[in-house]
Amino acid sequence: MRFSKFYCPTLKEDPAEAEVISHKLLIRAGLIRKLSSGIYSFLPLGFKCLSKVIKIVREEMDRAGALEVMLPVVQPAELWQESGRWDFYGKELLRFKDRNNRDFCIGPTHEEVITDLIRHEVKSYKQLPLNLYQIHTKFRDEMRPRFGLMRCREFIMKDAYSFDRDNEGAEKSYMQMYDVYHRIFKRIGLKYRAVEADTGQIGGSFSHEFMVLADTGEDTIVVCESCEYASNLEKAEVVSSYKLDTTQSEKCANLQEVYTPQKHTVAEVSEFLGVDKTKIVKTLLYVADGKYVAFVIPGDRDLNEAKARSSLKINDLRMANFEEVKEITGCDVGYAGPVSLNVDAIYVDKLLLGKKDLICGANKTDYHFRHLDIERDVSVTDYIDLVNVLEQDPCPRCGARLKFLKGIEVGHVFKLGEKYSRAMNAKFIDSDGKEKYFVMGCYGIGVTRIISAAIEQNYDENGIIFPPSIAPFEVAILSLDIKNQEVMKLSEDFYNYLTDKGIDVLWDDRDERPGFKFKDIDLMGIPIQVVIGKKGLDEGIVEFKNRKTKEVVKIPISEFEEKILEFRENVWKEWGLF
Ligand code: ATP
Ligand code: MG
Repeated sequence: MRFSKFYCPTLKEDPAEAEVISHKLLIRAGLIRKLSSGIYSFLPLGFKCLSKVIKIVREEMDRAGALEVMLPVVQPAELWQESGRWDFYGKELLRFKDRNNRDFCIGPTHEEVITDLIRHEVKSYKQLPLNLYQIHTKFRDEMRPRFGLMRCREFIMKDAYSFDRDNEGAEKSYMQMYDVYHRIFKRIGLKYRAVEADTGQIGGSFSHEFMVLADTGEDTIVVCESCEYASNLEKAEVVSSYKLDTTQSEKCANLQEVYTPQKHTVAEVSEFLGVDKTKIVKTLLYVADGKYVAFVIPGDRDLNEAKARSSLKINDLRMANFEEVKEITGCDVGYAGPVSLNVDAIYVDKLLLGKKDLICGANKTDYHFRHLDIERDVSVTDYIDLVNVLEQDPCPRCGARLKFLKGIEVGHVFKLGEKYSRAMNAKFIDSDGKEKYFVMGCYGIGVTRIISAAIEQNYDENGIIFPPSIAPFEVAILSLDIKNQEVMKLSEDFYNYLTDKGIDVLWDDRDERPGFKFKDIDLMGIPIQVVIGKKGLDEGIVEFKNRKTKEVVKIPISEFEEKILEFRENVWKEWGLF
């Protein structure tokens, strides 16, 4: 591509609306333009990058034997009513009516559509296993679209769905996709971790999220400093690190009311009474599937609702409102405690097992209790893991310390089991002649989000530094003196040579100052720059520059053909790409 014929409107200034670096650079380097909140057009440079990401994803999916299909974006409401998600999905699902007043939505995901397709098509175990995928537009009316391509409303996803005759097959399909994802993210050149994720009611360890490590990530991931353990915060298991201190073996004094005027929060009570937050318990009141429940947790921790939901198999969980709290406790908000509490169940965090001499709300406005002995004073329904891990907690695998990292979720593999096939009555005939439900898995990749994630990991003060595997152009030829015929002839020869080798080249043949050209090419993140100028020609050399390392080498013109391929190979190696 000749730059003089290319359309790439680069900007000098950062766009005002962009908060994170990838968003700024995507706009400044001329890859995308905003149409509306969370909705973007891809300009030629952006589309070239997107196409390269798609190509890698497609090649790896095909290699694994998955079959590409294309499913409709517009989906009838009936399918979502069948699966039960029409009411459950909320406002992220963009709904509308057609001219005949029938309800439709724009697909945020395609479990319903694919299950419907398969239940009509696949009748026998002989047609299984099957893995179908598409790379296509999704729409989610996100509450807070932001960060450019990171959290859009309209975006491109690769979504795949596997169908197996039994659990064993489904787990094999799952592991295969898990391996495929590793290959994809390695080929793209991302630094990432596969982390264990919550499976909700499905259970088992069959959900992983693929997280690109970046400070601007919206997700917190928990990794072990010593072993391979990695999990998202929702799933990370807390193991008790408390040692029984001496006070624990002694008998606990009787409950004693203390006056704590206007002290509602753990921080306020801890300061007022001069005790550590770990000695205070928080009692959180919730409505779980229509019943009042209390979660009792250590004062220095946060409740993890996902853990509560999945271990207690709760569908609908919400915090009790002011009126409900008053009804349960008989006092103002901020003084709830687990003693003689009027609820259907009291779940206590495992870390509090056997704990004594704690402080809790007294269910009386402006009062707390001292000397709480959980076992003696609370009618505990069950002890379960209810809280988030903290940094420095012991690793559930090896006991070493845990630390937190920030991540961007670029992919998710999930065993669905029979969730959708049961809800939508999707069955096949097995070898024993019996009807069985398909055992399913689903596998998503945020194709457009990957571009943002790659930039968050690879940039400098001059702009983007694209991994060569997804760079819109791999090589830029910068002709510095376009009036010089020799420079232009040589540039054209090199351009043709590389293009014939199947390498994507941008030839900057514009009538612009050298500094201007360098700025643009750096900003656009092109991994290899070939600089051809009159001065070099007089010396018989051209320059190769590596965008990432900034390394520059001078090459005799006669050796161009062989050296550029060698240089390129080294650049790929440096990135760890294959
Ligand atoms: P998130 O927690 O970030 O909202 P999700 O759990 O809703 O993600 P999935 O439903 O598993 O995401 O979708 C598969 C993949 O699609 C995600 O791993 C992510 O990379 C991508 N994705 C999801 N929502 C968006 C969005 N609003 N914009 C861009 N990519 C998205
Ligand atoms: Mg989401």
